[in-house]
Amino acid sequence: MMPPDYQDSSLRFLFEKADIRGEWVHLGPALQTVNEAHGYSECVRQLMGQFAAAVVLISNNLKYSGKIVLQARSEGPLSLVMVECTSKSEIRGIARGDTDSIAETPIDLIPNAQLAITIERDGGQRYQGIVPLDGDSLATALDHYFLQSEQLHTRFWLFSDGNVASGLMLQQLPSQIQQDPEDRKKQWQEAEVLAETITADELFDLAPSEVLHRLYHEQSILLFEPQQVEFNCSCSRERSLSALSAIGVDELEEMLTEQPTIDMTCEMCGTSYRFNRSDLLGLAESPVLH
Ligand SMILES: [Zn+2]
Repeated sequence: MMPPDYQDSSLRFLFEKADIRGEWVHLGPALQTVNEAHGYSECVRQLMGQFAAAVVLISNNLKYSGKIVLQARSEGPLSLVMVECTSKSEIRGIARGDTDSIAETPIDLIPNAQLAITIERDGGQRYQGIVPLDGDSLATALDHYFLQSEQLHTRFWLFSDGNVASGLMLQQLPSQIQQDPEDRKKQWQEAEVLAETITADELFDLAPSEVLHRLYHEQSILLFEPQQVEFNCSCSRERSLSALSAIGVDELEEMLTEQPTIDMTCEMCGTSYRFNRSDLLGLAESPVLH
């Protein structure tokens, strides 16, 4: 079992004698809350776990204010898998399609998927990168994505049993400590090869200091304070009402002749918002419909 201090948390670490930094993440209750009430198969929950671990690693590795959305679209059993993480380490997510399906490995649920990584900065700035997720693994697709987009060697290790998820990320930094290109390459390869030996069970159960000691006991590594990760949905009554404004007055009128209220349920967290005629009349008077 993961020590309680490290459940639902992530932390950064830095190699003191090599140009390499890393991230570690462990998700338990926060992941279970993302998945609860959806009736996902264990296989779908595992895939959600991998996506959740990955998006937390990506988000914490960036200095920004806003949120990162990691999503895959596929023609396979699942049409969409999406998990997002804010710069305050709040996660939420959803899987759409045949969410009770199972496969040999979770990635088989989204064959030939397109993986999109979107950075939405507070204030509206938006950047999206897309990379094919062709049957290999989410971790490998992300390795390729970072090499292309940031020109930095980056490796991900992602594990989930559906209840917990854990992950490790290594990234080579621009040359600073080590100038010799051959030595740089050697240091990176060694760090990679050692990380390759970590097992899912070790990442599920061991505190990050223990994981790093097992992998890199000959290195000096600086560990930063863990950051708490939690489930939080950004839906609200106001946002639901503004979504209804897109439907149009006539259609809303028609809906209200069939039923006295209109219910909007957030598909991510299951919260229901109920609107009656007077709520919606306010909407009709608002300038958004003119
Ligand atoms: Zn919600």
